[in-house]
Amino acid sequence: MREQMAERFVIALDQGTTSSRAVLVDRTGTICGMAQFPFKQLYPQPGWVEHDPQEILSTQISALINLMVSKKIEPSQIDCIGITNQRETTVVWDRQTGIPIANAIVWQCRRTADAVAELSADPAIAKTINAKTGLIPDAYFSVSKIRWLLDNTPGAREAARANRLAFGTIDTWLLWSLTRGEVHATDVTNASRTMLYNIHEGGWDDWLLELFDIPVSMMPEVRPSSSVFGQTAHSGIPAGIPICGVVGDQQAALFGQCCFKPGQAKNTYGTGCFLLMHTGFEAIESSHRLITTIAASPPGTKHTQYALEGSVFVAGALIQWLRDELGIVRSAEQTEQMACSVNDTAGVYIVPAFTGLGAPYWDPEARGLIYGLTRGTRKAHIVRAALESMAFQVYDLVSAMEEDAHFKLEALKADGGASRNDFLMQFQSNLLQVPLARPTNIESTALGAAFLAGLSSGFWQDVSCLEELSAKSRIFHPEVDDEMRWKALQGWADAIRRTLY
Ligand code: ADP
Repeated sequence: MREQMAERFVIALDQGTTSSRAVLVDRTGTICGMAQFPFKQLYPQPGWVEHDPQEILSTQISALINLMVSKKIEPSQIDCIGITNQRETTVVWDRQTGIPIANAIVWQCRRTADAVAELSADPAIAKTINAKTGLIPDAYFSVSKIRWLLDNTPGAREAARANRLAFGTIDTWLLWSLTRGEVHATDVTNASRTMLYNIHEGGWDDWLLELFDIPVSMMPEVRPSSSVFGQTAHSGIPAGIPICGVVGDQQAALFGQCCFKPGQAKNTYGTGCFLLMHTGFEAIESSHRLITTIAASPPGTKHTQYALEGSVFVAGALIQWLRDELGIVRSAEQTEQMACSVNDTAGVYIVPAFTGLGAPYWDPEARGLIYGLTRGTRKAHIVRAALESMAFQVYDLVSAMEEDAHFKLEALKADGGASRNDFLMQFQSNLLQVPLARPTNIESTALGAAFLAGLSSGFWQDVSCLEELSAKSRIFHPEVDDEMRWKALQGWADAIRRTLY
């Protein structure tokens, strides 16, 4: 009898802000296993956030090994690896020793906020940066973090001049380490978050490198997200596994949700929200200060594809606040049943502007508000208003994107922890008046990285077969009448007006 061939898999390495995960994906696109290791968040000063790059690497390797052992996967069963990562976080290391010159500066870190504000106070500079990179100048993106490391680490400037230093976002650091220094590369999606990459011309931009005084010798080579990047060669992991995909986390989720065409969009409902809308080959300039970014493309795509991106600062974080600070819910899950225990919010609106308001209002001085309280207000009304506030904020982003792209959204795909909440999904669909699809598997980020890797290795043939794999979704159809919807939106607009500084 012929021996049955062992099943083969793609492994996604999902390097997030608080943990490193390895995710096993089979040919049907099913996630069949996962291992996860958290790592330390370092706060050396108020507003500063760092990670230890070595700990990121070691937790990522532990996750890979743990997954293989627990699922009894032989190295020969791994078709390829895809990497997805927290974006913008910056590492600089010595090419010879492989040792980082300092901790990684995390995307959330505000240490360079003043420097960026000073530079972009010149409207001509801010406009040129935006025109070249699609980004709104901010400390969030990698470039000011690289500059800070060069200016504040003893000997770094000289080492950089002598071509001894390498820069990378987390994907690049992992790729370099896993290939034992063979490959110093990144993909277009991660490059587009550095604020040094010209998203129209496709390349590191000389003017930006000069403006920030960054030597081009530090910069990684930029490749398509779905391409063969190299092979594993790090001690402690099986050698020779091809790494066939690299992609930033939000673009990975867009791809994992099979948003391949203009107008297709996904929203991730997590601590905050990330809404990305595919805009095809057109880099749309936003008039609402949304970000224009590069979308991951399947192999063989001739031209760069783009997306518009907007984020909500406080989404699931508001639920955590209700639980941990106000103590009016015991768990995030409980909010669904509480919200459904009342017919509406009895006129209560929450605007969670804890750290100001983002797109499309852009008011950093605004602060949060609970409006419409009466003697009849109950806990359940407040909880319902909190969930509704996530949907209202996403509605505002979608409206801004529709205006920018001159396009009407036809459907929205949802993922992230808070997308488990059926009440929220239904309310969102009612507001947007479009169907909302929540896949059975909400791990879109890992799936996107696996898809991109598996497409370039030939594990999957093309994107149409991926669309078939991920057809299993629960669809929420809009249910509410126009008048109720209009009233809710008026109430939200009124609450926003009262919140603006
Ligand atoms: P992260 O942004 O850290 O990746 P997740 O995608 O894991 O977050 O989502 C966690 C967030 O979602 C938390 O802020 C939590 O309050 C919220 N959340 C999780 N489950 C629910 C739920 N059933 N209803 C509402 N919010 C939820």
